[in-house]
Amino acid sequence: LVSREHHAERSVVRVGGVPIGPGTMTLIAGPCAVETPEQTLLAAQMAQAAGATLLRGGAFKPRTSPYAFQGLGEAGLKILADVREETGMPVVTEVVDANDVELVASYADMLQIGTRNAQNFALLQAAGEAGKPVMLKRGMSGTIEEWLMSAEYVAQRGNLDIVLCERGIRTFEKATRNTLDISAVPVAQRLSHLPVIIDPSHSGGSRDLVLPLTRAGIAVGADGVIIDVHPHPETALCDGPQALVDGDVRELAKIVRDLPPLV
Ligand code: PEP
Repeated sequence: LVSREHHAERSVVRVGGVPIGPGTMTLIAGPCAVETPEQTLLAAQMAQAAGATLLRGGAFKPRTSPYAFQGLGEAGLKILADVREETGMPVVTEVVDANDVELVASYADMLQIGTRNAQNFALLQAAGEAGKPVMLKRGMSGTIEEWLMSAEYVAQRGNLDIVLCERGIRTFEKATRNTLDISAVPVAQRLSHLPVIIDPSHSGGSRDLVLPLTRAGIAVGADGVIIDVHPHPETALCDGPQALVDGDVRELAKIVRDLPPLV
């Protein structure tokens, strides 16, 4: 269902009216984790002022350590809904458990499936039935074929509004948190009609890599970019070192605006 053999034309997915797909270069930005109403609103305003059209923010956080901040849960979803009300930005947020899909879908405009759940087939199927677009991150050790098969699990449940997100894979290299697999963008676009975006924040894991990786992603034809921003990264409860601050976000948005997308 997600292959170009099934559907030759590349697809555009609409998230609360915002298109992602060929001919677009959608900027999705927001805090890694929703922490407080003030932090989320400030991050959203910073992102929107720079040109982002979709708001990201995690309320359910899949953390490596069980002792790390796990997210605010439903309280975080409510904050995201309030910030959407205030800014008009549709919300992208992660769901980590099949049992929470209905709850998260009742607040979100797009469901995010993270790298750790890229092959959680029950979750993928539940997301496919939720009636909301799905952003599917590539598993950190997943092949492109496995990623597309995961998308197939969503599609099989009747939902073809799927956006693929390359967020970096595990390699021998330790200088970056993950290795952004730039070639995955054109390869996935050749094999699948689904839009493909990149996450330079979670791949590099470091603020100074976000702009160069964004340039690289645009150069190979990504349909969008999802990034972390935070009004005060030094106090962030999750992934502060990769969050962009105000001036950086405007510079990145300018790159996104000025570099013409490959179609
Ligand atoms: C995220 O985007 O908040 C996240 C946890 O990303 P990933 O699943 O790519 O690690």
